[in-house]
Order: sequence, then structure tokens, then C-alpha cells
Amino acid sequence: MPYAEVAVDAPIRGPRTFTYLIPNHLSVTPGQMVQVPFGPRMTDGVVFHLSETTSIELVRPIQAADPLGSVVSPIHLDLARWISDYYLSSLYSAVALMLPPGLRTRTSSYVQRPDDSALDSLDASLREAVVAAFAPRKSRLAESVLRRSVGAQHHRTLDRLIRSGTLQRIWAWSGSRPLAIDVATPANRAATSESALVPTSSQIEALTAITDSIQAARNSAYLLHGVTGSGKTEVYLQALDRCLALGRSGIVLVPEISLTPQLERRFEARFPGCVAVLHSRLSSAEHRRIWWAVYHGQYDIVIGSRSALFAPLSSPGLIVLDEEHDWSYKQHDPDPRYHARAVALQMASQFNAVVVLGSATPDLVTHNRALAGRSIHLLSLPYRLDAQTQVQEPSRGVMAGTMEGKSPRRLRDPGSGELAVPPGTGPVREGKEQASVTVVDMRQELREGNRSIFSLALQQSLMDTIARGDQAILFINRRGTAGVVQCRDCGQVVRCHSCNTPLTYHASPERLVCHQCNRRSPVTRRCSNCHSQRIRYLGLGTQRVVREMEALVPGVSILRWDRDVAEDADAPEGIVDMFADGKAQVLVGTQMVAKSLHIPAVTLVGAVLADIGLHLPDFRAGERVFQLLCQVAGRAGRGPSPGTAIVQTYRPDHYAVALAADQDYTAFYNKELEFRREQRLPPFNRLIRLLYANTNEATAQREAEHMGRVLAHQRRSWAMSEVDIIGPAPAYPTRVRGRYRWHLLIRGPDPRLLLDKSDLPEGWVVDVDPVSVL
Ligand code: ADP
Ligand code: ZN
Ligand code: ZN
Repeated sequence: MPYAEVAVDAPIRGPRTFTYLIPNHLSVTPGQMVQVPFGPRMTDGVVFHLSETTSIELVRPIQAADPLGSVVSPIHLDLARWISDYYLSSLYSAVALMLPPGLRTRTSSYVQRPDDSALDSLDASLREAVVAAFAPRKSRLAESVLRRSVGAQHHRTLDRLIRSGTLQRIWAWSGSRPLAIDVATPANRAATSESALVPTSSQIEALTAITDSIQAARNSAYLLHGVTGSGKTEVYLQALDRCLALGRSGIVLVPEISLTPQLERRFEARFPGCVAVLHSRLSSAEHRRIWWAVYHGQYDIVIGSRSALFAPLSSPGLIVLDEEHDWSYKQHDPDPRYHARAVALQMASQFNAVVVLGSATPDLVTHNRALAGRSIHLLSLPYRLDAQTQVQEPSRGVMAGTMEGKSPRRLRDPGSGELAVPPGTGPVREGKEQASVTVVDMRQELREGNRSIFSLALQQSLMDTIARGDQAILFINRRGTAGVVQCRDCGQVVRCHSCNTPLTYHASPERLVCHQCNRRSPVTRRCSNCHSQRIRYLGLGTQRVVREMEALVPGVSILRWDRDVAEDADAPEGIVDMFADGKAQVLVGTQMVAKSLHIPAVTLVGAVLADIGLHLPDFRAGERVFQLLCQVAGRAGRGPSPGTAIVQTYRPDHYAVALAADQDYTAFYNKELEFRREQRLPPFNRLIRLLYANTNEATAQREAEHMGRVLAHQRRSWAMSEVDIIGPAPAYPTRVRGRYRWHLLIRGPDPRLLLDKSDLPEGWVVDVDPVSVL
């Protein structure tokens, strides 16, 4: 066919393609990368489909086609179209999620070395600069390199010389070439695998529902609601086993942070040689190697964070999102601002696959859909399991003795695709107590004269835990030593010069850091407003907690785990492994420690200040604090001894804090749902957020206000009374990286209707179903 419909790498909202002529010497197929002219330049594109005819008169030809041929499957192309349509991102940015790593931006411009006569026509200083740039005798140079070396004063002359042809510009593909991949089957594939555990009766119930759907290749979705340690991962493993037995593959998504070596080992032990792990800490060479190995069908299971969803598996039958409520499933920046849950549900409908969403604290919207039971079905694992608790076989009523020191009972025949035990007859270890949770009112502590960051109850528990030889985790929802730096005389808070966010004090090395734009400044000794030298550091962070812990129990061994440490490439894994191996008695960390650690010797968890985050101007603040605190409480008591969690707060009466302490999801759900109903927020309505940023404050405000009027006008003229416009207002924080931010929310059962009626100029960011409205 002579014409190709191509998604081009240009800022176009929505799933639009452009028509190009396929020259005779090129062979082009859907899913292939091409190079096409777009406006004055050459750009990257992906072919979506071919056609016999076109209504367009002047059709430009494709300049080059990737010799790799098609790298995106037809189903993935459809998925890209859906993403681009739903999230209003360019089609190219959506399909780029599915391209081999390193190939998103390939086309760049080069300048040919000018011959001597062309050089002679340049004025002296430019000639010198050009000659220097091309030395030693390069035949061509990337245009960006040339521009950098001749300096900005010559850019306009360069443009003119390129236009007139004195300097010849050529477009070519740059960037990493795919590795040649050896398609041999991995050597250890036949190695013996660890067998499945004998499922409990609730696991059997969940597995039966899930595997029936997999078996029938019936598109369906399940919410697997169960506290940490209730056996969700075991359900994923056995469902995957069935999926693989049917010749299909599986994807398991986890929040970036919980992708620990422990988890990888658990999957690898069950499916040796079949598991590919994709995450952001891979080197680009490793990432490319694994992606191509998946492409060639060498792995049946892909585990990874958000983007692993787009791994090139040919026929996924099961997609798992563990901790489905986690915010990291939403891509925040750049476009497409997709949510992995929504994309997984869409993808499963295309592949006739099954989605399993696992969580102890499901997203309110997911849970609401599961209760309605139409599109998502609810499955519960109501009890916590542990290998060390007693085994009971209810069908015979016999106690089978304790499991201490032994491995849990396993099914004999892994991979048979059959559950070996009929419902109700499996050994059950259900009903282990949740950790006991104590809420401490820090206002009361202060009134009673305790100025420490640890309440008396926490101090006592810490000392007892250490003395017993157990482990403790201290959790704080923030990094750095102090939050805000404030003048005690005039009250001025030290803020970031470029985004106006309060700066955070860090002790080693000593400096102030902006947590919004990462700008670093020296520590302030004098108030810039009133010149007072009485500066104090408010709030607290991990380093401060470590210091106070050292003071409380001198000589105690402490490890710290937060984003500062985690940025050190392999530190986080090392730290968790060290703590799990008992190398230290106390682990101090930010929200990272709240996630998916299986450490039996931890008997005490302290949330040093639970209410941080509760007062953010975001309707999901309460839900977020609830989820975080539930996870923290879930840390304690994973092993045989009972666990304790101590939650310190200035707002013990706030329902998110109080109900998290009770670990009462249902009560929280009902309360929060009421609030959402009153406020007409999700799940009762949907939101689209529009954000505009500009270095000029007045411009940002004017643009936002103009947009507000345009939307209001459209709303009136189409009589869309069920849609509201909230704002415009300054976003929070108001300035990021030197740009002032203003935003608007469109709220309604289908806010898209209004947006489709209104033109959105360039520069506006559209966030469909935002997870944060700050
Ligand atoms: P979750 O994913 O909900 O946190 P896991 O699947 O990790 O729960 O299970 C928690 C612990 O219980 C693990 O140590 C796991 O090996 C064990 N476990 C899970 N299911 C069973 C079972 N059916 N029999 C014995 N032990 C089990
Ligand atoms: Zn001052
Ligand atoms: Zn900043």
C-alpha cells in the first residue's frame, strides 16, 4: 500500500496520525519506526496503519524506515491509541512507552563539514569557530554540538547559512542501537523450582475465581483485599502458575520502592529462569538486554514498576498490581499522565486477560467499584498468616503442631495447573492477631512537660524492645533533619528562591534543600527580614530521629533509610538486607520503610509524627495518611512475638489517624465516602486538572483566568449544569523551578465533555484523573 498513517513526535493532543507516502524503495509495516518530515524539520514517527488511498493532496514521503521492522504489536498500538485518547497526550508519547529502550528520540540533525569555498564566505570569527568545531577533520557534526561550540552570538548567522545551503544540514538516526540478542533458552529454565504452598481456604476461594477466569480467557478484574501478610503474594504466584501452564505470560507490577531483592528471589524461586525484572535502577544496557529478551519470548513473567506494563509480551493472561492504591502507579510527569491501573484494565480487555489488584487499603475508588461488583469483583483474605503460627486442619479438627523451624507445607505438583487441595481442606494458619496500636497525643505530652520527639510510651517501648534483643522501626513521613527553618522573632520562614517552598534543613552535609526543585543553599544564620540571629529549626526528619535515638539508648545500632540514602544506587537494598540480617536493632526511615518489608524480628514500629501530610490542600490527604499509617502498623509483629505500633500525633481525633490505629478499613471507607459524596468528589464524580506554569506571575494568572472564562462560557452555552469548574487558583506550591503555577479543576460525571468543547492552547498540562490536586 502506498500510504502510511504515522504518529509523529510533536506536541499534538490526542490520537492523531499524519499521512505519508511510502517511497518504492522502502518497505514499511505497522509498528515500525520511521523518519518523516514534519514542518521544517525531520522527526521520529511510528507507523500505525497503511492505506491504499488518501484524501490529502500534497503527501510528503517517508525519509527512512527502521531496519528492525515492526517493534510494536498491533494490540499495543491499539493500547497506545487508547492512552493518547483517554489522557489527551500525543500519540507518539503514548506509543513511545512501548518502544525498545533508548529509541524514543532518534532523529537529529547534523551539519556537513563545509568545503573551503563555503568557509571563505564566512566572516573571520565565525570561520574560526566553525573550523575549530570540525577539527580534527570530522566530516559531520551534530547541529547541537556545532551550535554550542560557535556560541549563541552566531546562531542567527548559522540559521541563515543553513537556509541558503552554504552549510548543508542532514537528518539521521542517532542513539543506541539495539543489542544483538542471543535467543537461546536460558540455561537454568529446567532447574527445580520451589513448590507452591498448600493454600488456605480463603486463598482457595480467591484462586478458584481468578484461575477460572484465566482458564476461560475471560476478561475480568478482581480486587484482592487483604492485610499485609494475608497471603496475597502466594495467590499471585499460584495464579501465575496456572497462567503459564496455559501457555500465557504474566505481568506483576509493584510500587518502585517495594521491588526488593527479597521479592525478586521469591518469584525466581518459584519460576526459575522465567522472570524478567524491569525497574528504573537498571543500567541502560541491562534494560535493553532484558527488554529484547522479553521481546524474543525468553521470559514468561515480567515484574517491575509502572512501565513494566508495556513490556513486549505477546500474550499476557494475568496482570497483577500489588499495592494497587500506591500513588506511584500514576505517571506524574511528563505526558502521558497515565495510571497503570486504568491502563491494565484496558489492556486486559484487549488481551482477554485477568487483572488482580491487591491491597490492604484499596484506593477508595477501586473499593467502591468492587462493592458495586460490576466491573471489579471483590475477594478477601481476611486473616494474617505466618509460617510460625499453629497449623490447623479444620476438616479433621486436628492440630498439626507448630511450624516453628520448619518450612510451610507445600503442594507436591507445581505447574500442574491444578489446585491440589479442594476447598476447605487445606491446612489453615489464619487468624494471627494484628499488631496492637497505641495512639499518643503529643499535645498532652507537651502539656506534661515532655519536650522530646519521643513520647514516654515510645521511649519505654524502645528501651524494652532493645533490651529484649528485638528490632524496631521508626517511621517519619519526611526526610532531612528539620522541616521548616523559622525566625523566632518575626516568624519568617526560609523559602526557596525559585519555588517559594519552605526549605528543609539537612545536618550532614549541613545545608538547606528545596524538596520541590532540589535547589541547595547554605544554612541561614541570620533572618533576611529582621536580621535576628535567633533561628530555629521546626519539624523533624530522619537524621534528627537517629540522633535522639542515640541519646535515648547510647550505643544502639541504627540504620537510616530514606530518599537521601536511596539515591545512592545500591544502598537501599543493602540497608534492608542488613537490617533483615539483624545487623542493626533500629531502622529509621521515611515512607519507604512502610512498604512491603518482611522482617519477623521487628516487634515495635513507631510513627514519630503521624499527621505530617494531613493538612495538605488535597482532598486525598486523609486517604493517604490512612494508607500510610495502616502500612506502618502492619510492620510490627510479622513473626512469632506480638507486635506493637505507636502512633504519635497532634490530631488523635482525626478519623484518618484514629481509624488507621484501629486498622479499620471499612469504617474509614464509609466515613471518607461520606465526605466525598458531600464534596462531589471521586468516586461520585471525575476530575480533570488543567495546569499552567510561567516564569511571569501575572502571565500565569492571566492565562489561567482566561481559560476559566472560556470554560465557563462553553459550560453555559452547552448547558452542562452537571459539570463544575473549580478555580483558577495558584497551585501548591505556587512556584516550581522558577515557574509560577496556576490550575483549574473540571469536575463532573464526564468532565471530558466540557474539555472537548474548548480549545486548549499549548503550554497547558492536562491531567485526567489526577491523584494529587496540589
Ligand atoms: P501478602 O502478600 O499478603 O503480604 P504473603 O503471600 O507474602 O502475604 O504471605 C505472608 C506469609 O505467609 C509469607 O511468609 C508466606 O510464605 C506465608 N504464606 C502465605 N500463604 C501460605 C500458605 N497457604 N501456607 C503457609 N504459609 C503461607
Ligand atoms: Zn526575622
Ligand atoms: Zn525550589
